[in-house]
Amino acid sequence: MLYQDQKLHIYNSLTGEKDLFAPVNEGHVGMYVCGPTVYSNVHLGNVRTFMSFDMIYRYFKHLGFKVRYVRNITDAGHLENDADEGEDRISKKARLEQIEPMEVVQKYTVDFHNILTTFNFLPPSIEPTATGHIIEQIEIIKEILDKGLAYEVNGSVYFDVLQYNKTHHYGILSGRNIEDLIHNTRALDGQSDKKNPQDFALWKRAEPQHIMRWPSPWSDGFPGWHLECTAMSTKYLGENFDIHGGGMDLKFPHHECEIAQAKACNDVNPVNIWMHANMLIMNGKKMAKSTGNYILPNEIFTGDNPHISKAYPPSVARFFMLQAHYRSILDFTDAGLQASEKGYYKLMEAISGIDTVPSAEQTSGFDVASWKQACYDAMNDDFNTPTLIAELFAAVKFINQLKDNKASISSADLEVLKISMFAFAFDVLGLENEEASNDTGHRLADTVEILINLRAEARANKDFELSDRIRDELSAIGIQLKDGKEGTSFSTN
Ligand code: AMP
Ligand code: ZN
Repeated sequence: MLYQDQKLHIYNSLTGEKDLFAPVNEGHVGMYVCGPTVYSNVHLGNVRTFMSFDMIYRYFKHLGFKVRYVRNITDAGHLENDADEGEDRISKKARLEQIEPMEVVQKYTVDFHNILTTFNFLPPSIEPTATGHIIEQIEIIKEILDKGLAYEVNGSVYFDVLQYNKTHHYGILSGRNIEDLIHNTRALDGQSDKKNPQDFALWKRAEPQHIMRWPSPWSDGFPGWHLECTAMSTKYLGENFDIHGGGMDLKFPHHECEIAQAKACNDVNPVNIWMHANMLIMNGKKMAKSTGNYILPNEIFTGDNPHISKAYPPSVARFFMLQAHYRSILDFTDAGLQASEKGYYKLMEAISGIDTVPSAEQTSGFDVASWKQACYDAMNDDFNTPTLIAELFAAVKFINQLKDNKASISSADLEVLKISMFAFAFDVLGLENEEASNDTGHRLADTVEILINLRAEARANKDFELSDRIRDELSAIGIQLKDGKEGTSFSTN
């Protein structure tokens, strides 16, 4: 297996270092990534975080690991702000649109999947929902209560952060100091049931107007947001698993609370490597729905947004995002996209041309074996996609020299070069050759044109049996011919 030869180092937010990846189970990877809250369309910033983990998932698979990749759907429990206050985001949308909460969930889950498919994401192994795991969440709350690390007030249950911190370390991931947290957390307003402001909800009693509610030993209510990820990650990956990821903004409080919940229950470190993807920004500010500073993926494909000068295909946007390291902030600009578009087509052209390159006795001017290892070294260094892409361009330069007969390559090296270019560009980076799919489109049009001409000939010869057969058989595969004054045209459905 490839993974036995490659030493993969991953930046771990928990240790602050690049740790050598050593899976819990040899040859297997368990990876959990916090999924979207499905109350509105995903913006390009959300897509960037999920794309970082798609690339990471792809590289693990490429190395030959058997990966169980769990990415949840948050369909309940995520309130409007992180301090356990405000309405449930999904309930609120349902109220505003006067539809069922599950209609909101369905609509935006479908949108999320469509966008990810357009960007050529691989689907996760399991995509569990919070509402599908209410029983598991209630069981965890019972365990935390039994351990004396949570308390019930008026039908709601809160995690007791100060009590937990006596025997564990709250702040282990985010580096936040409990004293600072006590000073900096907004004081309770007298309305809250919490003992201390830094405590967080495990279960909340539903107010009469709150439509999303489930029975529990404490009240009819709903689980706290942090709990679902603890329930679903332990259920599918175990009490201690390899990787947990999410956007940088989830490190605190979400991931810090997940660690506290899991440790309170099982007394083991739940996750070996915590990975945090950095933000996509626009106009110097984080892309976010709440501020209106965002761009939707569909706007990129249609060009229908004042921030961009034209439409860009999904692979160009994907290439643009992967040209930055996943831990760096990325500034979204039209100029950046234009530069990526040029680079992307240059890369695709070289890859498409590999097959026409003649091979020679020996390779001159390029060490294919060391180039291939340099590609792996880039990815092994905390998934350094910008360095990988620079290596791919070194190969592009060489391929172009080969085409101009300014260099030569042995057939064995040509095979390695070809397989590696395909593997890194398509399997690992997940790019698609838009040029090739355009090409397929052109070929389809040309083929139908040939059939239209044959049909016209058949009609001229009064061979109506053949001309009708051409029309009907094309129609059966979804190609409709339309006869008009200007001749025959076609449409597909
Ligand atoms: P949400 O649906 O709000 O829970 O967000 C889904 C994911 O998108 C989370 O992992 C967030 O960290 C991530 N995210 C939100 N805004 C951005 C952004 N501007 N850039 C990158 N990732 C983001
Ligand atoms: Zn989560």
